[in-house]
Formats: sequence, C-alpha cells, structure tokens
Amino acid sequence: MGIATVNPATGETIKIFEPLTAEEIEAKLALAENTFKKYRKISLEQKSQWLKAAADILERDQRKLGEIMTLEMGKPIKSAIAEVKKCALVCRYYADNAAEFLKDVAAETDASRSFIRYQPLGVILAVMPWNFPLWQVFRFAAPALMAGNVGILKHASNVPQCALAIDAILKEAGFPGGSFQTLLIGASQVESIINDSRVKAATLTGSEPAGASLASAAGKQIKKTVLELGGSDPFIVLESADIEAAATTAVTARMLNNGQSCIAAKRFILAESIADEFQSLLTEKFKALKVGDPMNEDTDIGPLANASMLLELDQQVQETVTKGGKIVLGGQVFSDRPGYFYPPTILTDIPVDSPGYYDEFFGPVALLFRVKDIDEAIELANDTIFGLGASGWTNEPREQERLIDEIEAGSVFINGMVKSDPRLPFGGIKRSGYGRELSIEGMQEFLNVKTVWIK
Ligand code: NAP
Repeated sequence: MGIATVNPATGETIKIFEPLTAEEIEAKLALAENTFKKYRKISLEQKSQWLKAAADILERDQRKLGEIMTLEMGKPIKSAIAEVKKCALVCRYYADNAAEFLKDVAAETDASRSFIRYQPLGVILAVMPWNFPLWQVFRFAAPALMAGNVGILKHASNVPQCALAIDAILKEAGFPGGSFQTLLIGASQVESIINDSRVKAATLTGSEPAGASLASAAGKQIKKTVLELGGSDPFIVLESADIEAAATTAVTARMLNNGQSCIAAKRFILAESIADEFQSLLTEKFKALKVGDPMNEDTDIGPLANASMLLELDQQVQETVTKGGKIVLGGQVFSDRPGYFYPPTILTDIPVDSPGYYDEFFGPVALLFRVKDIDEAIELANDTIFGLGASGWTNEPREQERLIDEIEAGSVFINGMVKSDPRLPFGGIKRSGYGRELSIEGMQEFLNVKTVWIK
C-alpha cells in the first residue's frame, strides 16, 4: 500500500502520500546538519520553554490528535486522548529535569580538576511503529531535543498524518525547522539514511526483523543504536495474590491498544490452586468488553491496525489450536464486520511446539498456562526469546523478591501491570532489544560522555 491512511475500522483508503524523492531527503539531511551546529548552542531555558509550549499544544489539541491516531491505526478514542496527554507529560518531565540530567559531574582524580560533560551527538534517526504513534515519538524527541540533538523521524507507513502532526506541533512550539523533521519514506529508504555520514545514531521501535536490519546497517557504519523490539511478557499470578484485582488488571494489561502493545501481558502464568478462579473471572471480564467503532467513547476494543496483523494473529491462533490448544473464548475472525476486528480470545492447554508458546501475539488474545509452584512459574516466564517487562502477583515478600531477582526482563512490576513512566527507564533484554528510553538513562543514550581532565 505504500505510505497511506487506511481506516482499519472499515478498510477504506482515506489518503495516499508520495514518499520523498532522493533530492528532498538530501535537502532535509542538509538542513538537519546545519541546524545542529546552531541548535546545540541554544540555552536549556529556551529549549525547555519550547518543550513546554509543545506540551500546551498537545493538551489544547488532544481530541483532534486523538482522532488522527484512531483514524489511522484504530485505537479507541479514549486511549488515544490519554496517549496525547502522556506526551505532554513527557515533554514537561524533560523540560523540568534536563538541566539536572545534563550538568557536569565532578570526579576526584590526579588532575587539579576533572569532570564528565554530557554533549549531544548530532542528527539522530528515529524509526518508529504505529502502535503508539505519538507516544513513541515524543519519548524519543523530548530528551533528544533537550540534550541538543536534532531528530529525523521515519514513522510507520500507516500513520503519515500522525507523523506530520508531530512535526507541526514542534514547529508551532518554536523549535527551529531543522531540529525535528518528519521524512515520509518507506522502510527500504532507511539504510541509505543510516549510511549517510551526517546521521550519527539511530533508535528503532518495532519488530525484531526491522531492528536487526537497522542495527546491522548501523553496525557497518560504527553508529550507535537503541532497539525497543517485541515482547511476550509474562503475567504471573501466585496463590497469595488478590485474584480479583489481578484479573481486573489483566484485562487492561492484555487489551490496551486492542492488544497491540509491546509490553502487553501476553502469557498468563497461573498457580494451579487459583487458576480456575482466575480463568473464570478473566473470561467473564473479556465477555463484557465492547468491540466496535474506535471513535465511540464507550468502545473498549477497536480493530487491529491493518489487514496483515489480522491475518497473522488469526494464523497464530488457528495453528495453536490445530496443535492441541483449546479455545475458551473467541478464536474466530468476525464474518459480519468490515475492517480488521478480532474478538477477545482466551486459549489454554498451549502446546510447546505451537505459536502460542513462543511467539508474540499482537492482538486481544490471552494465553493461559498453569504451573505447580513459583519455580515452575519462573522457569516458564524465562522460557522465551524476549525480555521486556514482567508482572508478578503475590503478597508473599519472599516470592516478590524471587520474581524481582530471577525474572529475565527489563522491568518487573509487582501487583501491578507493566507500564511506561517518564521517571523510570524503559527497555528490554534478550531479543526485546537493548538500550533504554525515558528517565536519565534514556537521555544519556544519545550523548557523548566527555571526560575532561585539567592540570
Ligand atoms: P515494524 O514492521 O518493525 O515497523 C516498525 C518501524 O520499522 C516502521 O516505521 C517500519 O516502517 C520500519 N521498518 C520495517 N522494516 C524495516 C527495515 N527492514 N529497516 C528499517 N525500518 C524498517 O513493526 P510494527 O509491526 O509496526 O510494530 C509492532 C512491533 O513493534 C511489535 O513486535 C511490538 O512488540 C514492537 N514494539 C516494541 C515497543 C518497545 O518499546 N519495545 C513498542 C512498541 C512496539 P514501515 O511501516 O514503512 O514498514
């Protein structure tokens, strides 16, 4: 389809965009590089004012921006608006904290004075996914711009209007034209950009193949990358947990964004003694969810983002069932709806050789596993190529400590769902990627940590 807005609730193509030509890309790269030379010298106070202005614009235009997201990728409008507000939050967070994060750090050595100074690298390429079209970009842009880097964005091809809106917000806020630019380009044009000597580093949020491709190209050029890739996060419920609270949170943790979140709880690992109770509560709660037009305020689940996501999820479910998995709820594509809707689904008895055991399911499907104790729970939780975030439910302090210590993941949340927060670093290990976003660690990814030694 190329770069286009296609309404996933109807399948209708709304608008097609032409990718930039080689000359247009060249002009944008030249502008980015020229801007960097001046931009890095602009005071933190000024950048902070611009970022706060961006936060004000996001809040002012929250409905309009939410509607663009919902139109292009199908998330329910109430979550879309919440996402816009979260973008304002991350802008304010870095506007308020960058001065502290970037200040010189003294070190005692044999010098009369030695210290560390943090400096920007230059033009940073951000390759971003459609699932949180505004949030993913702002959580990159806010720290990068405060640090004095300049950004170029290659957004997912199905959210061009979101990409252009972000560009417009930052310009209206006062940032110089070349400090952040959206490039409407396809994935095949990314490699030549990473090869360009004016681009100093890159970040990609998306699938493993996309991450591997970008990182290999960057590796050949000795350029740093940050990768935020997929996940098949465990949601572990042990005997002492508050089962009702766990089941209620499980619904949000699995269904947020129509089930298309990297940190969604995907594998529910349940202690045998509470598994029946949890399963029946979850089934009841899934049944109560309203699937429908994502523009309606009372819709809980909208469509998947595009036709290929629907096809892939359906194939994963069918293959898991063919291999012996059991459907407790859902499991069939709607035959009577246009668009890319998939029903809330629960699968149990998932065989080890089926997609349900090892693959990431990007949609409203909960995979339920039963274990006899915490040892088995930890073993199963870690039996995955991914390691993004884990949620563990138990009121036993010793069990909490074991989950914190033994789960292989970038984050562990106890008695709560995995979520991103500007104040906490976010990222994964294993094939979920490397590097961190958010907090001070996120800002430091694209900085030169310069050692200064003075006699
Ligand atoms: P995707 O197909 O990998 O796309 C992500 C971005 O990468 C898009 O801009 C895409 O452009 C681009 N891209 C694709 N192939 C590329 C290549 N070979 N070289 C360079 N760029 C390439 O992923 P998606 O389907 O949009 O997103 C879903 C995946 O993202 C899931 O696995 C999810 O878990 C992961 N995700 C991770 C996080 C995290 O923080 N860890 C957050 C959100 C999503 P086109 O659209 O033009 O193809």
